Amino acid sequence: MATNNCIFCKIANHIIPSNIIYEDDDVIAFLDASQVTVGHTLVIPKKHYENFLATPHYLISKVMIVAQRIGQILIKDFKAKGINILTNCYEAAGQSVMHFHVHVIPRYISSDGFRLEFMENQELSNLNLPAIANQIKDKI
Ligand code: 5GP
Ligand code: ZN
Repeated sequence: MATNNCIFCKIANHIIPSNIIYEDDDVIAFLDASQVTVGHTLVIPKKHYENFLATPHYLISKVMIVAQRIGQILIKDFKAKGINILTNCYEAAGQSVMHFHVHVIPRYISSDGFRLEFMENQELSNLNLPAIANQIKDKI
């Protein structure tokens, strides 16, 4: 459902300006207003879906193809050493704009200010992983 108050719907409809990198009938990519690193880009479907989990497959695919292309350019031409592709779903995961978007975050040096750390939780070392896998497998 599109919302009149959605900032990304307004960007997609050119109601508010942004630094657009790419646009076609379904997808638009623009620089994030708060650059985590130089070239930090957001790729979104023009149509409003709340997040990744709510977006139809064909649009997920189109968004990811554009994200891949921008990542390739940031590596080749901006000399990024790496790229993080990130999408947050719901507030608990850090989503602040409730319109599906993929962050393309170029990484230049290890201390470039962006951190995404996977730390093993020692309290979870005794989990029954086969049981958890089966629980998810049964629902797919
Ligand atoms: P989230 O936290 O939902 O994953 O990311 C939302 C991103 O949207 C943030 O990084 C934020 O800087 C960016 N953002 C929010 N409002 C605007 C805006 O009006 N223009 C642009 N270009 N980016 C925005
Ligand atoms: Zn929207």
